[in-house]
This record gives sequence, structure tokens and C-alpha cells, in this order.
Amino acid sequence: MSAPLPSFPLLSPLVGVFGGTFNPVHYGHLRSALELVERLQLEQLRLMPSASPPHRDAPECSAERRAAMVELAVSGEPRLVCDAREMQRPGKSYTIDSLIELRGELGTQQGLCMVLGCDAVQDIATWHRWQELLDWAHIVIIARPGWQLPRAGKLAQWLKAHQLESPELLRQRPCGGIVIEELRPLAISSTEIRDLLASGRSARYLMPQSVLDYIQTHTLYC
Ligand code: ATP
Repeated sequence: MSAPLPSFPLLSPLVGVFGGTFNPVHYGHLRSALELVERLQLEQLRLMPSASPPHRDAPECSAERRAAMVELAVSGEPRLVCDAREMQRPGKSYTIDSLIELRGELGTQQGLCMVLGCDAVQDIATWHRWQELLDWAHIVIIARPGWQLPRAGKLAQWLKAHQLESPELLRQRPCGGIVIEELRPLAISSTEIRDLLASGRSARYLMPQSVLDYIQTHTLYC
């Protein structure tokens, strides 16, 4: 008897991209990234530090240093990679530009997921060319402690219109769907870490020791 046919065309493996300021990277980012890799069976998840975030003041810590900390944090975990492409582009770091670049590299059939926390989703309608994001990638939203997605209004309608019934459907096409994943809640933020360090307290166990050592060596956030 022949094997049952898959119910959807098999695409090449899914790749994810997780943008952020990573100022600095912490276990909230890293644990979520790893859980997503395993939950969605991503071939790879690229942590992409924003060189010049369009919606906030330029971080005091340089993009190169933030990327160096991401590199240290993911070393030894081949499924997580630091993607420093935004360091190479002058001007504001628009996510749409990075997705277009990634699509050019991955080809039209590769499944690509843009990952973001639900706090980031609240602002998405202010992003440059936000309506086009789904033309280039899927969006995977991480439910984050203390945050809720909008239940009414234009953004809620947009989310509902594109939300997939199950994450398996991400493999049916290369882009265009939204899924929401509830991962282990870790109430850690870079803001809190910067505050701890600025007031001389410890950020140990909130982030990898290698990143803390880098912060100490370069006297950052004090
Ligand atoms: P800040 O406190 O400076 O705003 P942050 O901790 O929110 O920083 P970012 O670099 O701004 O970190 O976030 C990058 C991405 O990671 C965003 O999509 C954000 O929602 C998500 N994220 C940040 N912290 C967590 C966490 N603890 N759990 C899950 N997702 C997170």
C-alpha cells in the first residue's frame, strides 16, 4: 500500500527572523526563540538587531555592540543565528527592507516567519509599509506577560483576517499568515536590565553570563 499523500504541498523548511533592539539581549528573547524553533520546527531563527530603530531614540549602546552581545548569546546553539544585516544599511532600519532582502536570498518558495512579541504588534500599524509585511513573510506573534492583543478596531480586524487556524498551515505557503504562540512567560525586559545595571544591582541569571561579562568589559549601561 502506498504512503498517504500529504494534505498540503511540502515546502522547504521554515526560517524565522526575530527583530529587536536587543539592548541588551536577555533570556526572555533567547528562551522564546528556542521554544519557537522547536514548536514550529524552524530550520533556523535569525535574531536581527535593529541598527537604527525607527520608533525609538537611538540606543546609547551601539548597534555593533548589541549585535556582538547577540552573537555571544547564541554561540553554541546552531539553530539561533545573529543576523547583522541592518548594520550594513544606512538610515533607519525598516523591517520591510530586511524582509525584502531576506526574500531575495531565500527565494520565493521558502517559508519565512517574522517573529515579534505582542507589545511590538500594538505599534505595527505605524511601521513603514506595514501593510506589505505579509507579502514577504508570515508573522508569528509571541504572547508576552502583561500584554494583550487588540480585541477591537482596525488592527484587531487585520489580525483576524490573516490569522491561521493552526501553525501547520504556515507550511502551506511562503508568507501571508499570522499565528499567535503562547510560550513560557518570562517577564524580563531590556529596560529592567538597563535599570538594574545603572543602579549598580545585578542582572545575573536574567541573561547569559557571557553577555554580562561583555557588558562589564566594555562598561556598558552604568
Ligand atoms: P526594551 O525593554 O528596551 O523595550 P525588550 O526587552 O522589549 O526591550 P526588544 O529588543 O525591544 O526587547 O524586543 C525584541 C523583541 O522581543 C520584541 O518583539 C519583543 O516583544 C520581544 N521580547 C522582548 N522581551 C521578551 C520576553 N521577555 N518574552 C518574549 N518576547 C520578548
